[in-house]
Amino acid sequence: MPARTGQQYMDGLSNHPAEVWIGGEKVKDVTTHPAFQNGVRSLASLYDMQHDPATRDEMTFKSPSSGEPVGLSFIVPKTVADLERRRRMMTNWAWESCGMMARTPDFLNSAVSGWAGSSDYFIDNRPEFKKNVERYHEYIRENDLTLTHTLVNLQRSRNHTIFDNIEDNVALTVVDKNSDGIVVHGSRILATLGPISDEIAVYPTRTHLLGDAAKRQAFSFALPCATPGMKFVCRESLDMGRSNFDHPLGARFEEMDALVFFDDVLVPWERVFLLGDVDMCNNYSNATSSTAHTGQQVANRTIVKTEFLLGLTSLMAETLGSTQIPHVQERIGEIVVYLETLKACVRASEADAKPNKWGVMCPAQGPLSAARTLFSGTMYPRMAEIVQLLGSSSLMALPAEADFDTPIAPELERYLGTESSGAKDRVRLFHLAWDVACSAFGGRQVLYERFFGGDPVRNTMLMYQGYNKQPAMGRVTRFLEREG
Ligand SMILES: Cc1cc2nc3c(=O)[nH]c(=O)nc-3n(C[C@H](O)[C@H](O)[C@H](O)COP(=O)(O)OP(=O)(O)OC[C@H]3O[C@@H](n4cnc5c(N)ncnc54)[C@H](O)[C@@H]3O)c2cc1C
Repeated sequence: MPARTGQQYMDGLSNHPAEVWIGGEKVKDVTTHPAFQNGVRSLASLYDMQHDPATRDEMTFKSPSSGEPVGLSFIVPKTVADLERRRRMMTNWAWESCGMMARTPDFLNSAVSGWAGSSDYFIDNRPEFKKNVERYHEYIRENDLTLTHTLVNLQRSRNHTIFDNIEDNVALTVVDKNSDGIVVHGSRILATLGPISDEIAVYPTRTHLLGDAAKRQAFSFALPCATPGMKFVCRESLDMGRSNFDHPLGARFEEMDALVFFDDVLVPWERVFLLGDVDMCNNYSNATSSTAHTGQQVANRTIVKTEFLLGLTSLMAETLGSTQIPHVQERIGEIVVYLETLKACVRASEADAKPNKWGVMCPAQGPLSAARTLFSGTMYPRMAEIVQLLGSSSLMALPAEADFDTPIAPELERYLGTESSGAKDRVRLFHLAWDVACSAFGGRQVLYERFFGGDPVRNTMLMYQGYNKQPAMGRVTRFLEREG
């Protein structure tokens, strides 16, 4: 099957239901359940873009095996032009949700494509793992499957060092091996998009390095989400069943986060990519450059989201008549600085892109890591704060859409209009601002941006540890030794 339509994506979820729990209920069909259905529709609209004559050429490329059009995020980039093409495709998808759906399928498609292009890496663990990775990549590309992923073990204690040595029946662990595959038991966080995905990739992350003793927690594999023994346990839904007017983001873009429990789940051998080699697991993302590929998706999405917030805050100031106030200008100007910084990082990552030793063109990691670190720790929480500071009580003066169809409508029109905006337009705009910066949906967005790529403290430690500081230290030393 070449690039799927939205309907084909939804049919896939209905026909292969995963075990999904929410609010004391086992979900029968996520495509019709109120907690998930609108998020599913938003994702489906992305797949439809692959068939829309206006966008399909930017969204697909010719499959190297079938010759059919397949999703462009499955490309194994060989040139900078491939990266630029993939960036345009990712940007188109990101705009569909104004950057609010972060784990659109291009995120993991680009990671697995990076593994496939670097599949020789897996030979050193077991020769057959190379073929497993290549076949899996071809399988998800030709069937246009949606992936979630879960990298971090639930922890009973955080009282360890940078290395995780885990023997506690909580972390996901290999408990058996047989002729069919490996059997895993335990738990993982978090599978964003998990309940509305077809497949789950389970692999290690450099933000939680494994210790020497963690051989049974050292693996990489992928499974259908509907595999027996696997459960997705969801947080409460942020789609509260309200109108697009009242909850413009939550009513559309709920991508859901779930715990994943594995109860003696069989992973067939052909789905195993790494097993039992702690060093290879700890070196996984560096060796395959998968973080650079996902980093391209992340950075493009953050540009989209920042531009969206620039538009939102500018409209807020115009609506409130506050554009001439110096500190309002300064705050919106700050968002311009963020936007230009992010754009510069993405351009630098393409300008400095290099092929890895297997010929995969990889965006430069340095500017992408810098963009992610700044966005998660500084830019996004600050932009949400700026929306609050600019909006003040207008974020609470928010009658619902239904109130405009009642006898109080004339009063709403009279009292809530501003010099530049009618009452209903003002209220619609500030419902959006509220959903960005105050609602449960908005709170989750800030939490997501802070943590989705790993704990920012550990990430920044990794930048310290991995960065070549010798040239900088050499310059200081030479300055100290200078005579004149
Ligand atoms: C909304 C959201 C969506 C997510 N989606 C996904 C997903 O799709 N897939 C996925 O795999 N993961 C996902 N994550 C999980 C994410 O990878 C983790 O939250 C992140 O790696 C941090 O791990 P933790 O939550 O266990 O942090 P914790 O370990 O609970 O950290 C809590 C605090 O303690 C500090 N701390 C704890 N231990 C240490 C240590 N050893 N060294 C230094 N500091 C420490 C941290 O700095 C942090 O401030 C998501 C998280 C969120 C919030």
